[in-house]
Amino acid sequence: MKLRTAKTITRISAVLAVILAIVYRLTYNYIAMYGFLAALAILILVMVLFVKCPHCGAHFHRLSDSALRAGRCPYCGEEIDY
Ligand SMILES: [Zn+2]
Repeated sequence: MKLRTAKTITRISAVLAVILAIVYRLTYNYIAMYGFLAALAILILVMVLFVKCPHCGAHFHRLSDSALRAGRCPYCGEEIDY
């Protein structure tokens, strides 16, 4: 999975998790709670499995890092297909 795709998925699932947490807090609807947990699980899985350098394996904690946007790993300096 490309980094850009992983970044999009993590942002969408984070926003979805926040919305579902608010919905659950307001309505105590269990479907919202399970949706929140699913969005959180997707967020964590994509972050752990795909948001990392294919060369050195370092995890990118800050996806907006300027070196990343320039197409280089901020840790090893190798070119990244972003
Ligand atoms: Zn690297």
